[in-house]
Amino acid sequence: MTYQDGVPFLDLREQHRLLRSELMEAMEPVISSAAFIRGSDVAQFEHEFAQYIDTSTCVSVGNGTDALEIGLESLDLPLGSEVIVPANSFIATSEAVTRSGLRVVFADVDDTYTLDPASVEEKITSRTSAVVAVHLYGQPAQMSTLQGLCQNRGLQLVEDAAQAHGADSKGVRVGAIGTIGAFSFFPGKNLGAMGDAGAITTADPDLAERCRRIANHGRWGKFDHSLEGRNSRMDSLQAAVLRVKLRHLDSWLSVRRETASIYRRGLNAAFPGMAQMAFEEWSQPCRPGEIRLSREVLDDNHAYHLFVVRVPRRDAVRRALGEFGIETGIHYPTALPHLAAYAGHPQRSDAFRCGAWADELVSLPMGDHMTPERAQFVVEALVEVLRRSALR
Ligand SMILES: *Cc1c(COP(=O)(O)O)cnc(C)c1O
Repeated sequence: MTYQDGVPFLDLREQHRLLRSELMEAMEPVISSAAFIRGSDVAQFEHEFAQYIDTSTCVSVGNGTDALEIGLESLDLPLGSEVIVPANSFIATSEAVTRSGLRVVFADVDDTYTLDPASVEEKITSRTSAVVAVHLYGQPAQMSTLQGLCQNRGLQLVEDAAQAHGADSKGVRVGAIGTIGAFSFFPGKNLGAMGDAGAITTADPDLAERCRRIANHGRWGKFDHSLEGRNSRMDSLQAAVLRVKLRHLDSWLSVRRETASIYRRGLNAAFPGMAQMAFEEWSQPCRPGEIRLSREVLDDNHAYHLFVVRVPRRDAVRRALGEFGIETGIHYPTALPHLAAYAGHPQRSDAFRCGAWADELVSLPMGDHMTPERAQFVVEALVEVLRRSALR
């Protein structure tokens, strides 16, 4: 069993090779006009992305972390109030909360790898002001349940959609469900710029205006600073690149979904019984010869930014896949509360399911560079590696 070129985790060089003439054509007018800041591509991208998400406004910013931070700031939550975030995410989610003068409270995740609504409910106190739901790996968080929890208690619901461009739940795109959606266009995301960029989406015109002011030194025109803001802008070259790539996003998403379905079909067939496992058993450590796939939510369209499975002896499995030329990643090697950055956090020593899973998570190759043949090869290699390691 060989696959000549191996399977890269992600291949942006190949994507850019295919799009080269479109990208060059889009960037040329920006360069010749020198309208690098607030050029026409920025406003046009905002319009096109808002349309894509099917919400009224998109406010472009410098990166996804700023999108979260500015979005939270625009909500004017009481300083020092508590914001619930999942314990399994990229640190930007919790960083944005702390940087906005708010307190991070971690809740656990379930077999969708997104917030477990029961854990969120447990963490709500009289000091809670908001919940940040992360559509981790591209899987929409359980928004209708979370919306119910938040509405009953007057909490704001913010979406961290940095990994989920184009995902939807019951036909509603992420970024159009909560009060505020935050997107990242970091190059490796499903929709990526050629540098840093981000965006806030909202259907609330007042919040949109506040976000716009905060991101641009608190001004609307040139020197009418109505508040102290900051500088966080998407530049015109990134907007021009994103406008080109947005036109391809849906076809890239179908490649990602096709790859995921080959992974799911192949792995479920090779490890029967894993798919029907009850949550209690599913959440236990993987035994040799086992694998855990996330629960598929039938009402949702997953954006498959990442395809993450849990395996026993993860590091050895990754090395063995590497020998087949298959690149893998880990998202994330440490649950947020267990990072050194949270050494002084009150939940430091609490047990989180995702803390126990951290040593088992492995992300398989995923992106628009995938083909059915490459996906099938990954399945066969992984099945062989897991069977081999079970015998040891
Ligand atoms: C990438 C990412 C961010 C931050 O985006 P940047 O553009 O890198 O600042 C925030 N949250 C999650 C879940 C992410 O994956």
